[in-house]
Order: sequence, then structure tokens, then C-alpha cells
Amino acid sequence: MDKVIMLRYGELFLKGRNRSYFEGVLARNIKQALSPFECKFSRTQNRYYVEDYSFEDEYAIIERLRKVFGLHSLSVAVKVKTEYEAIYAAAIDCAPTAGTFRVNVKRADKKLSMNSMQIAIEAGARILRAKPELSVDLHDPDAAVNIDIRENGFTYVFGESVACAGGMPVGTAGKGMLLLSGGFDSPVAGWRMAKRGVKVYAVHYHSYPHTSLQAKEKVVDLAKKLTPWCGDITLYVVPFTHIQEEIHRRCNGDFMITVMRRVMVRIAERLAKKEGCGCLITGESLGQVASQTMESITSTEDAVLDLPIFRPLIAMDKTEIMEQAEHIDTYDISKQPFEDCCTVFLPRNPVIHPKLDEARSEEAKLKGEEEMIEEAIAEAEVLHLGEKAAE
Ligand code: ATP
Ligand code: MG
Repeated sequence: MDKVIMLRYGELFLKGRNRSYFEGVLARNIKQALSPFECKFSRTQNRYYVEDYSFEDEYAIIERLRKVFGLHSLSVAVKVKTEYEAIYAAAIDCAPTAGTFRVNVKRADKKLSMNSMQIAIEAGARILRAKPELSVDLHDPDAAVNIDIRENGFTYVFGESVACAGGMPVGTAGKGMLLLSGGFDSPVAGWRMAKRGVKVYAVHYHSYPHTSLQAKEKVVDLAKKLTPWCGDITLYVVPFTHIQEEIHRRCNGDFMITVMRRVMVRIAERLAKKEGCGCLITGESLGQVASQTMESITSTEDAVLDLPIFRPLIAMDKTEIMEQAEHIDTYDISKQPFEDCCTVFLPRNPVIHPKLDEARSEEAKLKGEEEMIEEAIAEAEVLHLGEKAAE
């Protein structure tokens, strides 16, 4: 009896012509996730299987697969040749040791003489004989014994299913440039867009020596935490010190954050285009801080030429965001106290509702903005993070 992991994906988004494209991307992402393990991966219609893996790796493989967007559930199954005795033996093995159960049979292989109902009844009877403490409950059983008889001459027998991450395969919805700070919000924002199939790139603005090197390391750690879900991430670490000092020197201090945000998205847009990204992504949430009012957001949007800015957290509460951060395991990194560049030179009374023309004219006070932007991009450090990058 061989053990295999059966993978299922949602079929809703697979209607029509895109189906084979989605399946191909999903298969590639699964293979990437499995690359640290010795195992065999195969695809048959509607199903993926992982086989020939070492038992010690089973848990790690399952945990890894549960982070692949596009997969909806998986089960560990026993694979036997399609022969009655082998099927019944596997069913007995798979049955629980206490409580109630039912047997479900799916028979794609019509060559068998018994039909699904007959096989279910016989398997149920055998299980009861082997484990007399059990009883059958067809309507609300504690456990199910599933017998899946496929066309390929093999039958898969399994109990419960484990829920996976759902969503869409990463890479099927284009690419996005995430503005990644060290806070709680932006990693969650990137994760949510990846769940919708967006391949995430990231940019971080760093104000060394006003901010510490640890602040940068924190962001690298955050990006790494995202890679099991998002796949490899290219992270641009952009030196922002000079620009920030210039804003501080030349602009009305109350507009510090407003102007900074405008320059940040300008740089992000250029990097986005360089990487072929179709959107920017931020962790903004309406009303959370002064720079996240409608007027502030309007001012930031104004500085981007032609890409949309996606803000997947815009209508989420901080508590909801924190829960997600715990779920994706970025919480403990984000809570480390290293300063972000946004907290340096903070004005005492930042404008909360900046007027667009004022925001524009404050930014216009910057001398040589174009050159500064070009210089920052030229000096950016480019990091490739994730499994493939490590190979
Ligand atoms: P976060 O928790 O993501 O840091 P925040 O609540 O601290 O967000 P802000 O500091 O106003 O909010 O930042 C809003 C958004 O701007 C962030 O979610 C992020 O997308 C982007 N951002 C802020 N600082 C940086 C930075 N140093 N580098 C890159 N992006 C940044
Ligand atoms: Mg922040």
C-alpha cells in the first residue's frame, strides 16, 4: 500500500479557455513548493498527486502545500491496485477506531462488476466486522471513508481533507509592486494580492543612518516570510535618506509625509514598469493614521502616472489585519521595534486633509527631484529571496 497526497483545486475559476493556463501555472507553483523534497509529482485530469516521498517529510510537505494559492484541499490517501480485497483492506485501515462513519465510493472505472453502492455496502460491512465498536451513520457521521476508483487501474482510499489556502495560482493575475514597510499592514496587503493570483515584487525605502540596519533586515525577514505563499520575491531596497533630508529642508514640515508618499509612489511606479508590474500595492487602511485620509490618498494617487494603486486593506480594522498577520506569521517580525523611515523627521502637526494643489506645490519645492529619484533607483540594492533564488 503506497501513501500519496491528493491535491484538489477549486474549479470555479477554471471555466472556459483559461483552464489549461491556470492548471499549468498551478502545477509549476506546486513543483516549486515541492523542490526541497524528494518526491514524485503527477497530474491527471482534475487531480494532482504527490507520491514516493519519505514518510518523515509528510508533515513538512503538507504544510508547504497548504501555502500554495489555488489549492483548495488535500488528503493523504492510500493507493492500491483496483482489486476488491485490496480496496477493502485499505478501507478498514482508513476507518476510525471509535464513533460513527460512512463509506463514500466514486467509481470512474466502470470495468468493475460491482457498482458504487454495492462496493460501499460491502466495505462498510467489512469495516464493522474488523472494528465492531464502530457504527454506521449515513447522515451525520463522525468520519468518512472515501474510496475513489480511478480510470488508471488504481484506487485511492482516504479519510478527512485538510483545507488549503484557496485563492488563485500566483502569476495568473499579473504582477504588482508592493510598498513594503516594516509594519503590520503591508506584508498582509502583499499576501492578500498574492492570494488573488498577483506575483509580488517589493520595494522598501530605507533612511540609513536615520534608521538602523536592523530596520532593513526586518523588512528582508518579512519578505522572506511571504515567499512560501508568494513564491520568490525580488525586493528593492531604495536609499531614501537624501530625498528625505531634502524634503525636510525645502518643504513645509507639515507636508513631510504627504510629499514623501508622493515621491515613494513615483519611485515605485518606475520600478514597477521595469519589472512589468501592472499595479502598486500598499498597506493603507482608511483613517488608520493621518496619512490615510481620503485627501491624503488623493494626493498620493495624483503622483502616479498610469498604474492603479491597490489597497487591499482599505476597509479592514487593525484587529483584523493583526489576525491575518498572525495567520501568515509576520506578526512577530512586524512587532519588533525598529524605526521605519516614515517616523524620522515626523512633523508635530502633519496635515490630515491636504489640498491637492498644496501637495503639488510643496513637492515642486524639491530641487532636482528627477535626478534624486534616478539616483535612488540606481543605488537601490536588489535582493532575490525565496527557494528558487537560494538554489
Ligand atoms: P505598515 O503597517 O504597512 O507600515 P502603517 O500603518 O505604518 O503601514 P504608513 O506608515 O502610513 O502606515 O504607511 C502606509 C503604507 O505606505 C504602508 O502600508 C506601505 O505600503 C507604505 N510604506 C510606508 N513606509 C514605507 C517604507 N519605508 N518603504 C516602503 N513602503 C512604505
Ligand atoms: Mg509603517
